Amino acid sequence: MTAQLIDGKAIAAQVRQQVARQVEARRESGARRPGLAVVLVGEDPASEVYVRHKHLACEEAGILSFRHHLPANTTQTALEALVDELNADNRVDGILVQLPLPEHLDPRPILERILPDKDVDGFHPYNLGRLAQRMPLLRPCTPKGVMTLLQKSGIKVRGLDATIVGASNIVGRPMALELMFAGCTATVCHRFTKDLEAQVRRADLLVVAVGKPGLVKGEWVKEGAIVIDVGINRNDDGTLIGDVEFTPAAERASYITPVPGGVGPMTVASLLENTLYAAERHAPMKAE
Ligand code: NAP
Repeated sequence: MTAQLIDGKAIAAQVRQQVARQVEARRESGARRPGLAVVLVGEDPASEVYVRHKHLACEEAGILSFRHHLPANTTQTALEALVDELNADNRVDGILVQLPLPEHLDPRPILERILPDKDVDGFHPYNLGRLAQRMPLLRPCTPKGVMTLLQKSGIKVRGLDATIVGASNIVGRPMALELMFAGCTATVCHRFTKDLEAQVRRADLLVVAVGKPGLVKGEWVKEGAIVIDVGINRNDDGTLIGDVEFTPAAERASYITPVPGGVGPMTVASLLENTLYAAERHAPMKAE
Protein backbone atom coordinates (compact mmCIF):
# COMPACT_ATOMS: atom_id res chain seq x y z
CA MET A 1 0.00 0.00 0.00
CA THR A 2 1.14 3.53 -0.64
CA ALA A 3 -0.42 6.04 1.68
CA GLN A 4 -2.56 8.97 0.71
CA LEU A 5 -1.08 12.21 2.03
CA ILE A 6 -3.23 14.24 4.41
CA ASP A 7 -2.71 17.84 3.30
CA GLY A 8 -2.77 19.83 6.53
CA LYS A 9 -1.91 23.06 4.77
CA ALA A 10 -4.96 22.86 2.53
CA ILE A 11 -7.30 21.74 5.32
CA ALA A 12 -6.03 24.46 7.66
CA ALA A 13 -6.65 27.04 4.91
CA GLN A 14 -10.25 25.80 4.58
CA VAL A 15 -10.77 26.08 8.35
CA ARG A 16 -9.30 29.57 8.42
CA GLN A 17 -11.55 30.70 5.56
CA GLN A 18 -14.56 29.23 7.33
CA VAL A 19 -13.66 31.17 10.50
CA ALA A 20 -13.19 34.35 8.44
CA ARG A 21 -16.65 33.91 6.90
CA GLN A 22 -18.23 33.44 10.32
CA VAL A 23 -16.41 36.46 11.74
CA GLU A 24 -17.69 38.53 8.84
CA ALA A 25 -21.25 37.23 9.39
CA ARG A 26 -20.96 38.25 13.05
CA ARG A 27 -19.77 41.72 12.04
CA GLU A 28 -22.66 42.11 9.58
CA SER A 29 -25.09 41.15 12.34
CA GLY A 30 -23.71 43.97 14.48
CA ALA A 31 -21.73 41.75 16.86
CA ARG A 32 -18.20 42.83 17.76
CA ARG A 33 -15.09 41.18 16.36
CA PRO A 34 -13.61 38.31 18.39
CA GLY A 35 -10.43 39.33 20.23
CA LEU A 36 -7.35 37.27 21.08
CA ALA A 37 -4.65 38.42 23.50
CA VAL A 38 -1.26 36.81 22.98
CA VAL A 39 1.31 37.13 25.74
CA LEU A 40 4.98 36.54 25.00
CA VAL A 41 7.64 36.75 27.70
CA GLY A 42 11.31 37.06 26.73
CA GLU A 43 13.11 36.72 23.41
CA ASP A 44 12.84 33.06 22.40
CA PRO A 45 13.17 33.24 18.57
CA ALA A 46 10.91 30.22 17.89
CA SER A 47 8.19 31.65 20.15
CA GLU A 48 8.47 35.01 18.38
CA VAL A 49 7.86 33.26 15.04
CA TYR A 50 4.84 31.37 16.44
CA VAL A 51 3.36 34.55 17.90
CA ARG A 52 3.85 36.40 14.62
CA HIS A 53 2.05 33.59 12.74
CA LYS A 54 -0.83 33.69 15.21
CA HIS A 55 -1.13 37.46 14.85
CA LEU A 56 -1.16 37.28 11.04
CA ALA A 57 -3.69 34.44 11.07
CA CYS A 58 -5.97 36.51 13.32
CA GLU A 59 -5.68 39.54 11.03
CA GLU A 60 -6.52 37.44 7.99
CA ALA A 61 -9.62 36.02 9.73
CA GLY A 62 -10.82 39.42 10.96
CA ILE A 63 -10.05 38.60 14.61
CA LEU A 64 -8.56 41.42 16.71
CA SER A 65 -5.22 40.48 18.17
CA PHE A 66 -3.73 42.22 21.19
CA ARG A 67 -0.02 41.59 21.57
CA HIS A 68 1.73 41.82 24.92
CA HIS A 69 5.48 41.36 24.72
CA LEU A 70 7.02 41.39 28.19
CA PRO A 71 10.75 41.46 29.04
CA ALA A 72 12.53 38.22 30.02
CA ASN A 73 12.89 39.43 33.64
CA THR A 74 9.11 39.80 34.14
CA THR A 75 8.06 38.53 37.57
CA GLN A 76 5.42 35.90 38.27
CA THR A 77 3.33 38.59 40.00
CA ALA A 78 3.52 40.95 37.02
CA LEU A 79 2.50 38.20 34.60
CA GLU A 80 -0.39 37.19 36.83
CA ALA A 81 -1.48 40.84 37.01
CA LEU A 82 -1.55 41.00 33.20
CA VAL A 83 -3.65 37.82 33.05
CA ASP A 84 -6.08 39.39 35.55
CA GLU A 85 -6.29 42.53 33.40
CA LEU A 86 -7.00 40.47 30.26
CA ASN A 87 -9.56 38.35 32.13
CA ALA A 88 -11.44 41.56 32.92
CA ASP A 89 -11.16 43.07 29.42
CA ASN A 90 -14.42 42.63 27.51
CA ARG A 91 -12.74 43.00 24.12
CA VAL A 92 -10.66 39.90 24.85
CA ASP A 93 -12.35 36.54 24.19
CA GLY A 94 -9.23 34.43 24.29
CA ILE A 95 -5.94 34.61 26.20
CA LEU A 96 -2.88 32.72 25.08
CA VAL A 97 0.36 32.70 27.05
CA GLN A 98 3.08 31.47 24.71
CA LEU A 99 5.07 28.57 26.16
CA PRO A 100 7.78 27.89 27.14
CA LEU A 101 8.08 30.69 29.69
CA PRO A 102 11.54 31.74 30.96
CA GLU A 103 12.86 29.32 33.63
CA HIS A 104 12.08 31.53 36.66
CA LEU A 105 8.35 31.56 35.84
CA ASP A 106 5.99 28.71 36.75
CA PRO A 107 3.49 28.20 33.91
CA ARG A 108 0.94 26.17 35.90
CA PRO A 109 -0.52 28.92 38.11
CA ILE A 110 -0.50 31.25 35.10
CA LEU A 111 -2.48 28.84 32.93
CA GLU A 112 -4.90 28.14 35.78
CA ARG A 113 -5.43 31.87 36.29
CA ILE A 114 -6.80 32.36 32.78
CA LEU A 115 -10.60 32.25 32.99
CA PRO A 116 -11.69 28.87 31.56
CA ASP A 117 -14.01 30.59 29.08
CA LYS A 118 -11.01 32.58 27.71
CA ASP A 119 -8.67 29.57 27.70
CA VAL A 120 -8.43 29.23 23.91
CA ASP A 121 -5.37 26.95 24.20
CA GLY A 122 -7.59 24.52 26.11
CA PHE A 123 -4.88 23.85 28.73
CA HIS A 124 -6.88 24.81 31.83
CA PRO A 125 -7.72 21.78 34.05
CA TYR A 126 -11.40 22.77 33.76
CA ASN A 127 -11.33 22.42 29.96
CA LEU A 128 -9.31 19.18 30.06
CA GLY A 129 -11.76 17.88 32.66
CA ARG A 130 -14.70 18.77 30.43
CA LEU A 131 -13.11 16.83 27.58
CA ALA A 132 -12.40 13.88 29.92
CA GLN A 133 -16.08 13.85 30.88
CA ARG A 134 -17.23 14.00 27.24
CA MET A 135 -18.59 17.54 27.58
CA PRO A 136 -15.89 19.51 25.74
CA LEU A 137 -15.96 23.29 25.56
CA LEU A 138 -12.58 24.79 24.59
CA ARG A 139 -10.39 21.93 23.33
CA PRO A 140 -6.59 21.84 23.18
CA CYS A 141 -5.64 23.11 19.72
CA THR A 142 -3.27 20.45 18.37
CA PRO A 143 -5.41 17.38 19.21
CA LYS A 144 -8.48 19.26 18.01
CA GLY A 145 -6.60 19.96 14.77
CA VAL A 146 -5.83 16.25 14.39
CA MET A 147 -9.53 15.43 14.77
CA THR A 148 -10.35 18.02 12.10
CA LEU A 149 -7.75 16.50 9.74
CA LEU A 150 -9.30 13.04 10.20
CA GLN A 151 -12.84 14.30 9.77
CA LYS A 152 -12.11 16.44 6.69
CA SER A 153 -10.22 13.52 5.11
CA GLY A 154 -13.37 11.41 5.46
CA ILE A 155 -11.70 8.97 7.87
CA LYS A 156 -14.10 7.22 10.23
CA VAL A 157 -12.39 6.44 13.53
CA ARG A 158 -15.14 4.84 15.63
CA GLY A 159 -14.05 1.39 16.86
CA LEU A 160 -10.43 1.74 15.73
CA ASP A 161 -7.54 0.65 17.93
CA ALA A 162 -5.61 3.89 18.38
CA THR A 163 -2.10 4.12 19.78
CA ILE A 164 -0.89 7.51 20.91
CA VAL A 165 2.86 7.78 21.45
CA GLY A 166 3.61 10.66 23.84
CA ALA A 167 1.60 11.60 26.90
CA SER A 168 2.17 15.34 27.39
CA ASN A 169 -0.55 17.55 28.84
CA ILE A 170 -0.80 19.56 25.64
CA VAL A 171 -0.77 16.83 22.97
CA GLY A 172 -0.71 13.13 23.97
CA ARG A 173 -3.18 13.12 26.86
CA PRO A 174 -5.88 15.32 25.31
CA MET A 175 -5.35 13.40 22.03
CA ALA A 176 -6.28 10.19 23.86
CA LEU A 177 -9.36 11.89 25.32
CA GLU A 178 -10.42 13.15 21.87
CA LEU A 179 -10.00 9.71 20.33
CA MET A 180 -11.90 7.98 23.15
CA PHE A 181 -14.65 10.58 22.76
CA ALA A 182 -14.76 9.69 19.06
CA GLY A 183 -15.15 5.98 19.85
CA CYS A 184 -11.58 4.64 19.54
CA THR A 185 -9.96 2.20 21.92
CA ALA A 186 -6.99 4.30 23.00
CA THR A 187 -3.58 3.16 24.25
CA VAL A 188 -1.16 5.85 25.43
CA CYS A 189 2.60 5.22 25.34
CA HIS A 190 5.24 7.21 27.22
CA ARG A 191 8.86 6.84 28.25
CA PHE A 192 8.11 3.91 30.59
CA THR A 193 6.16 1.89 28.00
CA LYS A 194 7.71 -1.61 27.95
CA ASP A 195 7.37 -2.52 24.30
CA LEU A 196 6.69 0.49 22.08
CA GLU A 197 7.05 -1.53 18.89
CA ALA A 198 4.28 -3.96 19.93
CA GLN A 199 1.92 -1.08 20.76
CA VAL A 200 2.60 0.60 17.42
CA ARG A 201 2.20 -2.64 15.45
CA ARG A 202 -1.35 -3.14 16.71
CA ALA A 203 -2.55 0.38 15.90
CA ASP A 204 -5.20 1.00 13.23
CA LEU A 205 -4.65 4.67 13.99
CA LEU A 206 -1.27 5.89 15.17
CA VAL A 207 -0.62 9.38 16.56
CA VAL A 208 2.97 10.19 17.49
CA ALA A 209 3.88 13.29 19.53
CA VAL A 210 7.24 12.88 21.23
CA GLY A 211 9.85 15.13 19.62
CA LYS A 212 12.39 12.39 18.71
CA PRO A 213 13.14 12.01 15.00
CA GLY A 214 12.70 8.47 13.68
CA LEU A 215 11.51 7.11 17.05
CA VAL A 216 8.78 5.13 15.30
CA LYS A 217 10.22 2.83 12.64
CA GLY A 218 8.31 2.64 9.37
CA GLU A 219 8.32 -1.16 9.44
CA TRP A 220 6.37 -1.12 12.75
CA VAL A 221 3.37 0.49 11.03
CA LYS A 222 0.47 -1.90 10.51
CA GLU A 223 -0.54 -2.42 6.87
CA GLY A 224 -3.34 0.07 6.09
CA ALA A 225 -2.96 2.08 9.32
CA ILE A 226 -3.61 5.82 9.52
CA VAL A 227 -0.46 7.63 10.66
CA ILE A 228 -0.55 11.10 12.20
CA ASP A 229 2.89 12.51 12.98
CA VAL A 230 2.71 15.48 15.34
CA GLY A 231 6.47 15.60 15.99
CA ILE A 232 8.45 18.57 14.71
CA ASN A 233 12.24 18.17 14.74
CA ARG A 234 14.85 20.32 13.04
CA ASN A 235 17.63 18.67 11.01
CA ASP A 236 21.15 20.12 10.98
CA ASP A 237 20.40 21.69 7.59
CA GLY A 238 17.35 23.48 9.04
CA THR A 239 14.72 21.27 7.39
CA LEU A 240 11.96 19.74 9.51
CA ILE A 241 11.15 16.07 10.11
CA GLY A 242 8.66 14.22 12.24
CA ASP A 243 8.93 11.40 14.76
CA VAL A 244 7.97 8.64 12.29
CA GLU A 245 10.30 7.30 9.57
CA PHE A 246 8.26 8.75 6.75
CA THR A 247 9.16 6.79 3.59
CA PRO A 248 8.82 3.21 4.92
CA ALA A 249 5.76 4.19 6.95
CA ALA A 250 4.10 5.68 3.85
CA GLU A 251 4.60 2.36 2.03
CA ARG A 252 2.47 0.57 4.63
CA ALA A 253 -0.06 3.19 5.79
CA SER A 254 -3.37 4.04 4.13
CA TYR A 255 -3.10 7.71 5.14
CA ILE A 256 -0.17 9.69 6.51
CA THR A 257 0.56 13.29 7.47
CA PRO A 258 3.76 14.86 6.13
CA VAL A 259 6.11 16.99 8.26
CA PRO A 260 6.00 19.86 7.57
CA GLY A 261 2.53 20.51 6.14
CA GLY A 262 0.55 17.97 8.16
CA VAL A 263 -0.54 18.63 11.74
CA GLY A 264 1.58 21.80 12.11
CA PRO A 265 -0.74 24.25 10.30
CA MET A 266 -3.79 22.87 12.12
CA THR A 267 -2.83 24.22 15.54
CA VAL A 268 -3.27 27.86 14.53
CA ALA A 269 -6.45 27.00 12.60
CA SER A 270 -7.89 25.43 15.78
CA LEU A 271 -6.84 28.48 17.78
CA LEU A 272 -8.89 30.70 15.48
CA GLU A 273 -11.87 28.34 15.79
CA ASN A 274 -11.55 28.40 19.58
CA THR A 275 -11.36 32.20 19.66
CA LEU A 276 -14.49 32.46 17.53
CA TYR A 277 -16.23 29.88 19.74
CA ALA A 278 -15.27 31.84 22.88
CA ALA A 279 -16.57 35.08 21.31
CA GLU A 280 -19.86 33.41 20.42
CA ARG A 281 -20.26 32.40 24.06
CA HIS A 282 -19.34 35.88 25.35
CA ALA A 283 -21.25 37.93 22.78
CA PRO A 284 -23.32 35.78 20.41
CA MET A 285 -24.01 36.82 16.85
CA LYS A 286 -27.19 38.83 16.74
CA ALA A 287 -30.17 37.08 15.12
CA GLU A 288 -31.59 38.80 12.00
P1 NAP B 1 6.77 16.85 25.48
O1 NAP B 1 6.02 17.70 26.45
O2 NAP B 1 8.27 16.82 25.53
O3 NAP B 1 6.21 15.38 25.64
C1 NAP B 1 6.82 14.29 25.00
C2 NAP B 1 6.11 13.02 25.40
O4 NAP B 1 6.79 11.92 24.77
C3 NAP B 1 6.14 12.74 26.90
O5 NAP B 1 4.86 12.33 27.30
C4 NAP B 1 7.17 11.62 27.05
O6 NAP B 1 6.86 10.68 28.05
C5 NAP B 1 7.03 10.91 25.72
N1 NAP B 1 8.25 10.18 25.38
C6 NAP B 1 9.54 10.57 25.48
N2 NAP B 1 10.36 9.59 25.05
C7 NAP B 1 9.56 8.56 24.69
C8 NAP B 1 9.83 7.27 24.17
N3 NAP B 1 11.07 6.85 23.94
N4 NAP B 1 8.78 6.47 23.91
C9 NAP B 1 7.51 6.88 24.12
N5 NAP B 1 7.20 8.11 24.59
C10 NAP B 1 8.23 8.93 24.88
O7 NAP B 1 6.41 17.22 24.00
P2 NAP B 1 5.05 17.82 23.34
O8 NAP B 1 4.92 19.25 23.71
O9 NAP B 1 3.93 16.88 23.56
O10 NAP B 1 5.47 17.77 21.80
C11 NAP B 1 5.78 16.55 21.14
C12 NAP B 1 6.22 16.83 19.72
O11 NAP B 1 5.14 17.42 19.02
C13 NAP B 1 7.38 17.82 19.59
O12 NAP B 1 8.17 17.46 18.48
C14 NAP B 1 6.69 19.13 19.32
O13 NAP B 1 7.52 20.03 18.59
C15 NAP B 1 5.52 18.68 18.50
N6 NAP B 1 4.35 19.58 18.56
C16 NAP B 1 3.80 19.95 17.39
C17 NAP B 1 2.69 20.77 17.39
C18 NAP B 1 2.09 21.15 16.08
O14 NAP B 1 2.22 20.44 15.14
N7 NAP B 1 1.44 22.25 15.95
C19 NAP B 1 2.13 21.24 18.59
C20 NAP B 1 2.71 20.79 19.78
C21 NAP B 1 3.82 19.97 19.76
P3 NAP B 1 6.75 11.05 29.62
O15 NAP B 1 5.39 11.65 29.78
O16 NAP B 1 6.87 9.71 30.28
O17 NAP B 1 7.86 11.99 29.91
